[in-house]
Amino acid sequence: MPSRLLPVGATRIKVDRHGNSYRIIKVANPSKWEYEHRIVAKMKIGRKLYSDEVVHHWDEDTLNNDPDNLAVWTRSYHALFHWARGEGYYPYS
Ligand SMILES: [Zn+2]
Repeated sequence: MPSRLLPVGATRIKVDRHGNSYRIIKVANPSKWEYEHRIVAKMKIGRKLYSDEVVHHWDEDTLNNDPDNLAVWTRSYHALFHWARGEGYYPYS
């Protein structure tokens, strides 16, 4: 089924160019989708995310969007964290 025909609330898995999988949720018709981890993170901190903020998954499982598994960091801090662990630049998880 084309994604624009799916109901609001439907979920899909999106794989980025690094091979990481993310769950996305349809939030409005005809085709507005949002990352589940960003929705959960916004509820956790009680505000929108700024454009330079990303969500880190503590256990590295990008499909585990339990609020306790998520941290909201700036893009630069996130890159530094993963770089310091020898993982290179890793912008989205
Ligand atoms: Zn991360």
